[in-house]
Amino acid sequence: MIEMNQLRDAFSNHFGLHPRLIVRAPGRVNLIGEHTDYNEGFVLPMALDRGTFIAAHARADRMVRVYSSSYAAEDRFSLDAIERNHEQPWSNYVRGVVKGLLARDLPILGADLFIMSDLPLGGGLSSSASLEVAVGYAFQLLNNIDMLGEELALLAQGAENNFVGMQCGIMDQFTSVLGRAGQALLLDCRDLSYRLIPIPPDVRIVVCDSGVRHQLVGSEYNSRRASCQEAVQLLRARLPRITALRDVSPGQLAEHADLLPAAILPRARHVVSEIQRTLEAAEALDHGDLSGFGRLMNASHASLRDDYEVSVPEIDALVRIAHSLEGCYGSRLTGGGFGGSTVSLVRVGAVEQFTADLAARYREEVGREATILVCSPSDGVSRAALF
Ligand code: ADP
Ligand code: MG
Repeated sequence: MIEMNQLRDAFSNHFGLHPRLIVRAPGRVNLIGEHTDYNEGFVLPMALDRGTFIAAHARADRMVRVYSSSYAAEDRFSLDAIERNHEQPWSNYVRGVVKGLLARDLPILGADLFIMSDLPLGGGLSSSASLEVAVGYAFQLLNNIDMLGEELALLAQGAENNFVGMQCGIMDQFTSVLGRAGQALLLDCRDLSYRLIPIPPDVRIVVCDSGVRHQLVGSEYNSRRASCQEAVQLLRARLPRITALRDVSPGQLAEHADLLPAAILPRARHVVSEIQRTLEAAEALDHGDLSGFGRLMNASHASLRDDYEVSVPEIDALVRIAHSLEGCYGSRLTGGGFGGSTVSLVRVGAVEQFTADLAARYREEVGREATILVCSPSDGVSRAALF
């Protein structure tokens, strides 16, 4: 837990003045609908009760000073010359958002920012989106700028796409802005319409960080995206009206499978089936059908592992162990893949035993330490303190 007083004091010690305010933007976990966002499909994430906190103070000039306690490092830049920082790549998430604000011609001045986070960095819980959203919201408040939630999410996504160079979809930023306590968010990534669905109080969402991180995440992610685009191009020979895999039904894909090379077909099959599963999962949640929801999570994992090929043995082990434990409705890889975390849906009375057994058996079978978080669905970005 991050204490607001502790963050205020840390800001004061570092910058020599009191912050004006603190913003908080949550991380997210995706319950189902993986690698569907950039195919204009559906996703079903929730905002976490962990996130990025930024204490902030406006400046009268055009300097930005930003300190990250996660890296114990500071970066400085001027609003008039925002370039990529190769020495401190973490700062590009901040720089990208500020550059995006300026590109929208918004009247901003410089700021002093102090970042603290209680999310794992690079663990698949979207610390990156929560950082971007927190930076955007801090500048919004400091400069009295009105901005719709959707615009803030797009600004944050744009920073990651155009400045950091990660071609992520809109899910992470959207959830960090618009998530709500007690609810999952069914988002249509085509038109950004969404619907909140209550998560029954008798289950817990258990996120398990495998501790595995792969350098390839960015390049593999971008290459999966390219495969999806290629599939759309090829399928258009017979389905001229489609613009994304969202427009292709499982039946159509099976019918026109001969158009796709062997390396591309399973990628498209994952996306098309995952979009279907996500809609079915939302319906199951509407009816409080947790067993049905869990079965769809399990099917999602198998598809990510076998067709999309974004899992790794350590994650497969976590999912296999979770499936075998009492009170677990379903478990799957969450986030982009190549390491990161799993998400499991667990009956509330079984959670303690579940987390203890999952950690012990992962240690035994894989020889690594898992970090387990029992999470509740939380509100999106907000002002956490005003001084
Ligand atoms: P994820 O979003 O799943 O956590 P990413 O690789 O997309 O993983 O984003 C992690 C990166 O985001 C970090 O390597 C760092 O550059 C940046 N980042 C996230 N949180 C912070 C923070 N508190 N301070 C500085 N940089 C951060
Ligand atoms: Mg990220």
